[in-house]
Amino acid sequence: MRLSRSLLPTLKENPAEAQIVSHRLMLRAGLIRQTASGIYAWLPAGLKVLRNISQIVREEQDRVGAQEVLMPTLQSADLWKRSGRYDAYGPEMLRIQDRHKRELLYGPTNEEMITDLFGQTVKSYKDLPQVLYHIQWKFRDEMRPRFGVMRGREFLMKDAYSFDLDYDSAVATYRRMLLAYLRTFQRLGVRAVPMRADTGPIGGELSHEFLILAPTGESGVFYDAALEELDWLDEPVDTNSPVALEAFFNRVTTPYAATDEMHDEAGWQAVPEERRREGRGVEVGHIFYFGDKYTRSMEVSVSGPDGNQLYPEMGSYGIGVSRLAGAIIEACHDDNGIIWPDAVAPFRAVILNLKNGDELCDAICERIYNTNEEAFLYDDRAERAGVKFADADLMGHPWQIVVGPRGAKGGKVELKRRATGERHEMSVDDALALVLAG
Ligand code: ATP
Ligand code: MG
Repeated sequence: MRLSRSLLPTLKENPAEAQIVSHRLMLRAGLIRQTASGIYAWLPAGLKVLRNISQIVREEQDRVGAQEVLMPTLQSADLWKRSGRYDAYGPEMLRIQDRHKRELLYGPTNEEMITDLFGQTVKSYKDLPQVLYHIQWKFRDEMRPRFGVMRGREFLMKDAYSFDLDYDSAVATYRRMLLAYLRTFQRLGVRAVPMRADTGPIGGELSHEFLILAPTGESGVFYDAALEELDWLDEPVDTNSPVALEAFFNRVTTPYAATDEMHDEAGWQAVPEERRREGRGVEVGHIFYFGDKYTRSMEVSVSGPDGNQLYPEMGSYGIGVSRLAGAIIEACHDDNGIIWPDAVAPFRAVILNLKNGDELCDAICERIYNTNEEAFLYDDRAERAGVKFADADLMGHPWQIVVGPRGAKGGKVELKRRATGERHEMSVDDALALVLAG
């Protein structure tokens, strides 16, 4: 994209309404704008981030055998009356009436809809297991929308739902999903720690939340420092083997890690004192196993091996895709701005033309830009170098390719790595090779 022709409205000043760093930086870097309380529009660079996150989430869901679907945002209230949750859900649910006075709602989650969909389409145990997911907007009328996209009212979520024949197979699915989550967060360039969690209004027995540690997080967390060194994904896991999945699950969940809601004194005392860590975290994912809670209440069964009807065992698995954009910034920034992990960045590099109108500078910039217009943001504005440098740091592109008249004479550019501040002079081809690698 050429910056001179892009909608990338960066701000010099901190917006007064933003209390935490990710919200400030998302506004300042021109990623989002608020359109109503807790509701945001994603501008071009922000949308690229959202798409990059979604794509990694999608690939890791597909990799463990989940199938992508797309369910609507609007749901019939009747579905929720069948499960008994329509009244129980409370004022977070946005209830709507259509012109025929039929009750609808803007989905805050999709257990009911997917259970109904499953019931319409799967009739026999032979078609189990099934894991389905979608990446779709949710609405929850949060009491206190705040922190920008971190606690919005409308937000993008990946939610997956699993249907298994029996408990053992449901637990294997749960563990496979936990693995998929760790792989997802690793690829996103952040560390999210799985913590034992309360099963809350969704109900059920087994649940983990994934938290990115950050001082501005809404959850208090307690964990064993051993977790800081543990590389959960250092050994490959055979996801078809229940034994391998069990070993993996134990390895990951053995060190103490709990949110304040689930913190227990006995478990805490068992952690050697010098290894006890307390902090705060942002919840970016939440997984549940809840058995036949919905299949039973909604009367959705399949024929079993012995001819009797049985209620499949379910789990649900959420990732806050739009919240992640903010949470990643909480974890990856400095005083000058965002430091995007490579996989999430809206552009791999910005090309900084330090002397617009200089024939040589313009030619080099154009040449670089033309190699890959998707990957590069070309700062071709007639602005001072200082402004361009500041905006580049603010927007957080992993690389900055600086093209100035002195270097240009010898065919050289300066390549700066945003994360480390390292800069080196090199040929255009060498810079391109580095920036476009991997
Ligand atoms: P929280 O405790 O933060 O309200 P939750 O337990 O209600 O989260 P889930 O129902 O498990 O959340 O939803 C799955 C994921 O969706 C969460 O882990 C979080 O990342 C994201 N999420 C939930 N509520 C919001 C929100 N209001 N804004 C943005 N993302 C959200
Ligand atoms: Mg909530």
